[in-house]
Amino acid sequence: MQELFQKLNYLDKDELKLVKKCFNFANFAHLRQKRFSGEPYINHSLRVVKSLADLKMDSSTVCAALLHDVPEDTSKTLEDIRREFGREIANLVDGVTKLGKVRIKKAWFIFGPVKKEEFSEFERQIETLRKMFLAMSKDVRIILIKLYDRFDNMQTLNYVPKEKQKRIAEETLKIFAPLAYRLGIGELKGQLEDLAFPYVYPEEYQDLKKEAIPAYQARDKHLEKVKRNVAKHLAKEDIKFDIHGRSKHLYSLYKKLQKPKYSGDLGRIYDLVALRIIVDTIEQCYRVLGILHKLYTPIPGEVDDYIALPKPNGYQSLHTTLFCENGKIVEFQIRTLKMHEHAEKGVAAHWQYSEDKKSVKVPKNKLVWLKELNKFQKNLKDPRLLSEELQLDFFTDHIFVFTPSGDVKDLPLGATAVDFAYAVHTEIGHRCVGAKANGKIIPLDKPLESGQVIEILTSKNSRPKQDWLSFVKSSQARSSIRHFFKNT
Ligand code: MN
Repeated sequence: MQELFQKLNYLDKDELKLVKKCFNFANFAHLRQKRFSGEPYINHSLRVVKSLADLKMDSSTVCAALLHDVPEDTSKTLEDIRREFGREIANLVDGVTKLGKVRIKKAWFIFGPVKKEEFSEFERQIETLRKMFLAMSKDVRIILIKLYDRFDNMQTLNYVPKEKQKRIAEETLKIFAPLAYRLGIGELKGQLEDLAFPYVYPEEYQDLKKEAIPAYQARDKHLEKVKRNVAKHLAKEDIKFDIHGRSKHLYSLYKKLQKPKYSGDLGRIYDLVALRIIVDTIEQCYRVLGILHKLYTPIPGEVDDYIALPKPNGYQSLHTTLFCENGKIVEFQIRTLKMHEHAEKGVAAHWQYSEDKKSVKVPKNKLVWLKELNKFQKNLKDPRLLSEELQLDFFTDHIFVFTPSGDVKDLPLGATAVDFAYAVHTEIGHRCVGAKANGKIIPLDKPLESGQVIEILTSKNSRPKQDWLSFVKSSQARSSIRHFFKNT
């Protein structure tokens, strides 16, 4: 606790008081609960808070992180939280609880790995889940809490019952890591993937580890020498710099080795360990590149200017691969401190810079934060780099709901149970007489909400109603209903 409050010293006195109150509330609510590891439950919430404190998140985020598992796992309700701590914190906690229900369908895991012929359907569903995740996050702070919640859960995954491990790890790999990437938090993405890797691909993980660890160590040793030499030359040039090594994440190495260009050959991966040089200005980045190219010979085709042409998630750096002493090949990454913070903290760093306050001012309105995120990602001179999957605008006018068996349906905003019924099957639409959302009967013309599980009640002799046309939103439902009346 002491240590945590030290980390939170960027908050003011009143905010710290509120955080303390939240801690006492959460601690009491979880009092007799233990994690699978046997440790007190609250330790988990505290670790989530610590990660968020490193990003200097505001007090509401910190409080919501302390309380994030309270409504789901204890006798205290969301209403209790609203009464004690107000609407803003309660809404954040509610959002995190709801996101907890976005899950990969169980059926995919019952029969082991997904079969080849089902693979594209699996990928499509996963992509829809990612969109659903973003569409349900009315506030980006909810995603950040959820990401660091998952980060801690992954670090303690070995205590979780075996049958759950694989699903949790697969979700981490397929949903959480890509989201961290989209938010620009590259470091977290790498960590999440590495934590999931041994559970999702146990054999591949063991094989790669056996092969790669000695290679990492060998390169590390060699790198020291290069580092000293480069530092000596940069010192002469009157540039303030920091130089350090970074090891490639194991899962990212695994993915790279699968590309045809490398065909599994570790010897052809030059960035196993890279040297990172951090300077103050963009001009200095290019100067350092020039100095390095004078010092060592660059490998043709291995120079990337991600400063002039940032990656789609906003990543910026200069990359170059050089023949160093004794013909050893080393990758260098040159960037400003600001670019470095972007790579480590993503959107959070972006907001930190945009305000001159101590804690991060996060845009609270969903449309605003999606736009901010888009701007962050579109910081590009080459529009071709903006892949479709990064275009977030479109699902502000979509909703995502589940079928009772866990499939995700993607519908236009305002869509009703009738739209859903037609999305499942035309006959289900025609025979629809009622609907349930999360187990409760709802009117057929009521707009659905992202994350709901929708069940359609049908009757064999029922027919579509003319007035459905006045409220359906999807073109599929509209045309099916029209078609039915034209033919009768
Ligand atoms: Mn949790």
